[in-house]
Amino acid sequence: MDPRLKEIVDNYDSWKISLDGSFRFHCTECGKCCINREDILLTPRDLCNASKAMNMLPPAFVNAYCECYIGQDSRIPIVRLKPIGSIKRCPLLKDRKCSIHQAKPAVCAMFPVGRAVTIDKDSYNQDGVLSSQIQYILNPITCGDQSETHTVRDWLNAFHIPLEDEFFLKWHSCIAELSSFIRKEEKKIPEHVMNDLWTAVYIHLYLDYDLSAEFLPQFERNAKDVLDLFHQLKELPESAS
Ligand code: SF4
Ligand code: SF4
Repeated sequence: MDPRLKEIVDNYDSWKISLDGSFRFHCTECGKCCINREDILLTPRDLCNASKAMNMLPPAFVNAYCECYIGQDSRIPIVRLKPIGSIKRCPLLKDRKCSIHQAKPAVCAMFPVGRAVTIDKDSYNQDGVLSSQIQYILNPITCGDQSETHTVRDWLNAFHIPLEDEFFLKWHSCIAELSSFIRKEEKKIPEHVMNDLWTAVYIHLYLDYDLSAEFLPQFERNAKDVLDLFHQLKELPESAS
């Protein structure tokens, strides 16, 4: 299991916090959270926001700043910011400041709060992920000072992160369904076909966006195309796959 994911799973119950739970934290903008980082995973929305902020198209942004791999547990394509050098500095940290401050990935904007959905991967509900399945965690705070008190609700509001985040729910619904299918079927699919499928998923879900158009309808279309493709595969006789 990915080490960061394992850390969250191992500490999940003790790190959980309610929306109205409070914590003391004030960011002193030291930039330390942008080094020793190998876990800044980008959603397609993060990628589009960051690409726009850097005046690049998503494929060029990925080439310049990211790396892609197949998740060890999820078995779906993952895009993460590619750390630089022995100190594993985020490639977007320049002069101790985030180059895309206004468009930073949600995981950076929300720190020290984290957001997760609880999904049983083997009995995924086809109705999708519901907002009642969203849970919050408070990462251990080892930086900044404690001069401010916040609730999770106020913290999210301050960073314009909606509680009913339609994209977040649809993204997790999509990846839960994809992950469930691939983990069940991967071994039955020839390697070259599986590689083509992963490439199609990667391009459709992460790269195929017009940055001048609204993001969510494009994501919905791309996610539907990808899921339709996998539904068609499910209907093929064993010998055809
Ligand atoms: S995206 Fe910005 S805030 Fe996030 S780790 Fe990189 S430099 Fe830091
Ligand atoms: S979140 Fe913490 S480590 Fe990051 S800039 Fe603020 S105080 Fe520094």
